[in-house]
Amino acid sequence: MKHDVIVLGAGMVGVGCALHLQALGKRVALVDRRAPGMETSHGNAGIIQREAIAPYALPRGLGFLLSGATNRRVDVRYLARDAVRMLGPLWAYHRNSAPDAYRQITREYETLIALSLETHAQLMNDADAHHLVAGQGYLMLYRSERELHSFFEVADERALDGVNHIKLSSADVAREEPSLVGRFAGAVRWTDPLAISSPGDLVQAYARLFEQRGGALHLGDAGTLRKTDAGGWQVDTAQGPTLEAPQAVVALGPWTTQLTARFGYTAPVIPKRGYHMHYARLPERPLHSTIIDAENGYVIAPMKNGLRLTTGAELANVDSPRAHGQINAAEKLARQSFPLGERVDPEPWMGTRPCMPDMKPVFGAVPGVPGMWCCFGHGHQGVTLGPVTGELRAAMMTGATPRVDVQPFSPGRFR
Ligand SMILES: Cc1cc2nc3c(=O)[nH]c(=O)nc-3n(C[C@H](O)[C@H](O)[C@H](O)COP(=O)(O)OP(=O)(O)OC[C@H]3O[C@@H](n4cnc5c(N)ncnc54)[C@H](O)[C@@H]3O)c2cc1C
Repeated sequence: MKHDVIVLGAGMVGVGCALHLQALGKRVALVDRRAPGMETSHGNAGIIQREAIAPYALPRGLGFLLSGATNRRVDVRYLARDAVRMLGPLWAYHRNSAPDAYRQITREYETLIALSLETHAQLMNDADAHHLVAGQGYLMLYRSERELHSFFEVADERALDGVNHIKLSSADVAREEPSLVGRFAGAVRWTDPLAISSPGDLVQAYARLFEQRGGALHLGDAGTLRKTDAGGWQVDTAQGPTLEAPQAVVALGPWTTQLTARFGYTAPVIPKRGYHMHYARLPERPLHSTIIDAENGYVIAPMKNGLRLTTGAELANVDSPRAHGQINAAEKLARQSFPLGERVDPEPWMGTRPCMPDMKPVFGAVPGVPGMWCCFGHGHQGVTLGPVTGELRAAMMTGATPRVDVQPFSPGRFR
């Protein structure tokens, strides 16, 4: 079966790529080994983060390093054997988190985040998916007055770039979320972000739109990708037919470089795994919006399947054995702040944020591999950025002019 483009990976990023290529007139086949949106794009905290104009930097203080070394934090843990192999990329991440480098990276990152809401709004309209928006805005809660006031300054800086917020005192927080039992000094309510009730369902709604518009969705293993004699690409599908196209986009999230490496392109991905668990809601103790306990690094999000508790990052390879210590520790802390009901899931879910040492996603032509494109490395904000990076990369592939400068996100920066 001949197409113009084969997109490999049907997470938020791959589906975003497929839809935008289709909108530019391409016949697109989308291939995944599972149904759309079943991996990292399923299990995240579900926030379309318009406020996240600065990517997630590596904290540079000695206190963080010392407490991180104990491997007992909820916001960051590591599997020692895997983390040792990441030392080079982690060192680059550390350097990129220094003020001057970080300022420049933030300027570039912000150009993508600024387009996140409008690119989602367009797809939500077309896919009739607005019912998946559970609410607007979320609370960033602080326990210490000092941390709260320094975050107020961050919020004021972001306001200069058009990001809206409301500052809340301890009493305001108690009024907005009376079920909170933890003692919080105050909070910032970011008012622009959208909280999604099931991010996996949102990807599936977008994938249905892709099919309604004539796109072909296939189950198949991207590992079967091969070059044809004519210089194009072939990939096998589980249903039988072999797909063929002159161009291929690799959007396999944390698995992307496993495939591109076979064709000679690698990039230093730092896999930050994360866990979630759902808890029953207690009807008399509602949670009205998503909350982040900023100093402890967990999120509680009201979602379709209950209250979803998510952890921070675990530095570990995507395929290494799971370790449930982080989600158990998050649960213990979360229960001290908010009354969660019983666990709903049989076991914790785990997914992997593919993070780059310079905190920016990677999209564009794969250097040295004609006809191969990639779109990955969206780190902490892949739900937010999937559609916008899909739009920009589709423009690059069809000769249209991307709306922002795409050079800072080029795959070639890791050559
Ligand atoms: C705990 C947690 C909380 C998060 N919270 C947020 C948030 O609130 N907001 C936000 O914007 N981001 C958040 N993120 C980040 C976000 O989830 C990711 O950046 C995003 O999902 C990445 O999307 P993706 O499409 O690149 O990858 P994925 O969703 O992982 O998709 C990759 C796809 O490739 C497929 N695949 C892999 N190998 C093969 C193969 N060999 N053959 C065929 N198919 C294959 C997989 O099946 C999968 O469907 C969070 C992440 C975590 C872990």
